[in-house]
Amino acid sequence: MSHFLSSPFRKRLGAVVLALFASAPAVAQDKVLNLYSARHYQTDEALYSNFTQATGIRINRIEADDAGLLARLKAEGAASPADVILLVDAARLWRGEQDGLFQPVRSSVLEQRIPAALRGADGGQGSQWFGMSTRARVLVYDKARIKPTDVDTYDKLAAPALKGQVCIRSGSHPYNLSLFGSVLEAQGPQRTEAWLKGVVDNMARAPKGGDTDQIRAVAAGECGVAVTNSYYLARLLNSRKPEDIAVVEKVAVMFPDQAGRGTHVNVAGAAVARNARNRTAAVRFLEYLASDDAQRYFADGNNEYPVVASARSDNPALVAMGRFKSETVPIAKVGANTAQVQQMLDRVGFR
Ligand code: FE
Repeated sequence: MSHFLSSPFRKRLGAVVLALFASAPAVAQDKVLNLYSARHYQTDEALYSNFTQATGIRINRIEADDAGLLARLKAEGAASPADVILLVDAARLWRGEQDGLFQPVRSSVLEQRIPAALRGADGGQGSQWFGMSTRARVLVYDKARIKPTDVDTYDKLAAPALKGQVCIRSGSHPYNLSLFGSVLEAQGPQRTEAWLKGVVDNMARAPKGGDTDQIRAVAAGECGVAVTNSYYLARLLNSRKPEDIAVVEKVAVMFPDQAGRGTHVNVAGAAVARNARNRTAAVRFLEYLASDDAQRYFADGNNEYPVVASARSDNPALVAMGRFKSETVPIAKVGANTAQVQQMLDRVGFR
């Protein structure tokens, strides 16, 4: 462009450009938050754009699954550009904490709004991660073939009445590792391993597919009962597609262990990265996720349950599924049990 700008103009332009460069790094650092997210829900877009609207901080998102993000953070080390990490399972959050990928956060907002049982351990400088939404691990069963009393506890997945009836995804998927980690906490190693063996013996087929595939297999008559996260069923309940409506007409939901310890709930949670460049904005984002609006979003957008008591939602699927009693075991303990669970799965042949 230099050939058609007069030289005085060029000088002024040069000064402006220099000024921009001088201030650019500070501004950019303040206004962009690098988010590593394992949340695989398209509806999350609104969650991020609301934050940008309220704060002017743009979100630069990198998506991968939990394991992929943890590996990437490890490989990047101190050079990692990550500010905030979102993972969708307690065992993975625990893993990230163990591997030193997060940093503790002390925030009165987060401590007041998020129950202690749904946060990482607090070693004195604050928790390393915070559960932001929960999902129940429920049983979905064929209401024509299976009696509710045959599926009202996790224990009964191993009972003779369900021989050849159980559909479940891979045992070492984080959702199952966390469920089994909760069973281990409640029942101890001997009973848990015997139970896992019983579940394997009761399978209708070798584990394959995701949670939604298990629900569909129940509707197709391939199995009597499926293990699934609550939001996958809620998604089908809210769907208007004829094939989804046909599925939900055949099945019913059970929240196990209502007369005992309560249904297992897992968390999706957030942490500030160990080497976050923009710590202030990162904490601000975590506090935003705990706001009533963002919490309602988790329920309305992805059919999860809010962790904040004051957050209200009228999501029709969640209302239809009803209220239930959750387990009260600290979710961080469940995460810590999963290494032991994996060894049991190998021994009983639960792939
Ligand atoms: Fe999921």
